[in-house]
Amino acid sequence: GTGRRTLVAGNWKMNLNHLEAIALVQKIAFDLKPAELETVEVVVLPPFTDLRSVQTLVDGDKLAIAYGGQDLSPYASGAHTGDISGAMLAKLGCDYVVVGHSERRADHHEDDALVAAKAKAAFSVGLTPILCVGEPEEIRAAGTQVEHVLRQLERSLAGITAEQAATIVIAYEPVWAIGTGRTASAQDAQDMCAAVRGQLASQYGDEIAAGIRVLYGGSVKAANAGELFTMPDVDGGLVGGASLVAEEFVGIVRSGP
Ligand code: PEP
Repeated sequence: GTGRRTLVAGNWKMNLNHLEAIALVQKIAFDLKPAELETVEVVVLPPFTDLRSVQTLVDGDKLAIAYGGQDLSPYASGAHTGDISGAMLAKLGCDYVVVGHSERRADHHEDDALVAAKAKAAFSVGLTPILCVGEPEEIRAAGTQVEHVLRQLERSLAGITAEQAATIVIAYEPVWAIGTGRTASAQDAQDMCAAVRGQLASQYGDEIAAGIRVLYGGSVKAANAGELFTMPDVDGGLVGGASLVAEEFVGIVRSGP
């Protein structure tokens, strides 16, 4: 979209150990030309256990690839066994962290209030949240997807200031399109991303909304990314399955402007 730098983020989910992570990042970095990495911002989101290895590779080879976590604790530190704080991610050189992915909303019963708390925790340590929203199949079938997603967005942004919102990334990911091979049509993705931007404008004003990147996610692959990314309110993609295959992920990055 207009004036916003396209962002392509690979959500690896619970795939690839640290050795496999190094191999994949090396392949991606080898394939992409410096000019391609200037026009499109490329982000990988590996499992926590891979982050130190990714950091070492990115720093050592000065790769223009950013990385982040797939989740963080809403707490700063303390008695929260198994959780990872935003400060830990920031210390590893992460720029981004996903909050509110539909798999965490489903597997770990995360609600909008918790997602908002996680987004706040991310901002407090200088991480940029990639905040995910999206409707399930039955809501799309009923035709109430816009109200559903905008309500989710408004609640997930509770307490986020305009200054913080100016740097956030929103990912619209219809649940029925995640990992199913069923991509939303480019027009459906555009319509929802435009509605999301409208909601951001009503909460934070037109100027801030015009600068926020809104991504589409849900079965993005090299073959459909071009059409999606040319839509005016779609500023890139959050990519799951296809981000695990270097050629596919690189193909998606090349679908940017
Ligand atoms: C995701 O996990 O955010 C996602 C969009 O997955 P996939 O690309 O596999 O549908």
